[in-house]
Amino acid sequence: MEQLVKQSKPLILTFKTPLGFYFYETNRNEIVAVNEQLYKYIDAVMQDDEQEIHQFGEEVVCQYDDLKDCGYLCTNHVKEIRHPATDELELFLERKIDSITLQVTQSCNLRCSYCVYSEDGYPSQRSHSEKMMSFETAKKAVDFYFMHSMDTKHPNISFYGGEPFLNIELIKRVVDYAKKVFEGRNITFTTTTNATLLTDDLIDYLAENKFNLMISLDGPKSIHNQNRVFAVNRKGSYDTVIKNIGNMWKRHPEFAKTVSISMVINPENNYEEINRLFNDRYIKKMRCLHSIVEKDDGEMVNYADEYVNGSLYNQFIGILSMVGRFKKDGVRKTAIDEIENMEHEMQKIRYGVLGDIAAPGGPCIPGKMRLFIDYKGDFFPCERINETSECMHLGSLDTGFDMNNINSLLNIGKLTEDDCKDC
Ligand code: SF4
Repeated sequence: MEQLVKQSKPLILTFKTPLGFYFYETNRNEIVAVNEQLYKYIDAVMQDDEQEIHQFGEEVVCQYDDLKDCGYLCTNHVKEIRHPATDELELFLERKIDSITLQVTQSCNLRCSYCVYSEDGYPSQRSHSEKMMSFETAKKAVDFYFMHSMDTKHPNISFYGGEPFLNIELIKRVVDYAKKVFEGRNITFTTTTNATLLTDDLIDYLAENKFNLMISLDGPKSIHNQNRVFAVNRKGSYDTVIKNIGNMWKRHPEFAKTVSISMVINPENNYEEINRLFNDRYIKKMRCLHSIVEKDDGEMVNYADEYVNGSLYNQFIGILSMVGRFKKDGVRKTAIDEIENMEHEMQKIRYGVLGDIAAPGGPCIPGKMRLFIDYKGDFFPCERINETSECMHLGSLDTGFDMNNINSLLNIGKLTEDDCKDC
């Protein structure tokens, strides 16, 4: 009964701020500003408060009806929580895997203080080890990918570690083999590297094979060297990385333009200080993506005031630049990455009425977007997933996909179905 009453009311959430009154229209994914009287009337309707409802004059009731006529205050509720891709899941995994990521090694020549694979500090994750993927496993992975990507327009194989270039011989063999298997389908290759092992030969090889390369660099020397140190002597890696990036620009400037910088930001540092990295004559020409350091389960990351203030100010002027009220080149690079993400997310916002069957946004289609294959051939949704987690294990090269686990992950919203239907 209670459920029926809830479902006959508009699927909205009212809220107010010091400056105004609003409701969030779930079906349209929109926030609507209203005047105070209308806000109180909507609240009375939502509370089913007959006595209160009759206190309002005709003008407010008309405003309420106008909103309904325009499609707002919609009472449509989702009847079942189910991911829209559920029925096509098998087809996606059979023919449309977007890309695979191969864990070519678990070894690394650095020991970054925040690395989730470090021997201490992240007990819930795997640790660095000398384990390497064999060519036999990699070959099986390429064959598996070929057979499960017949409808994929832009096939891509990514190499991941540890530091992937510690197993460069395997990478070269995989590239040769995959080019043969995928002949005529324009396969591309991607790697994220700490850039300490970029010799002349390796740079030439990456440029010739048009790798999508991403280099990890956390800030200027004073910040980068706090965390990203060599395993062998715990000395900072900044000078080596900068020298190698400069060399890459000299040898292959066109290729260097396509390389991105991946920053792991520690917000305990000053925002402006972090962005000093982009004073470098080469780095300033490169695209930058960033993330924030992660702590192990339950631990909080500390944000310094100097970081928060600088970051919020740059987000603000970044948004102004989106609407043409500020020059984009006045915005710090780390904020530009955020603004581009924001633009991308805004494009995904969906308008219209929710269907009878829907799912909360969030889960990707596990195994389809970026199937991660570890050194021994086990499957996980992507490289960011904890490899020791059983519920994230999606199968293996030997056994194929574990459809039960994949279905449960895809439909994780089932766990909170009753709450989700009314949210
Ligand atoms: S380079 Fe990457 S894998 Fe190696 S220690 Fe640093 S974060 Fe970890």
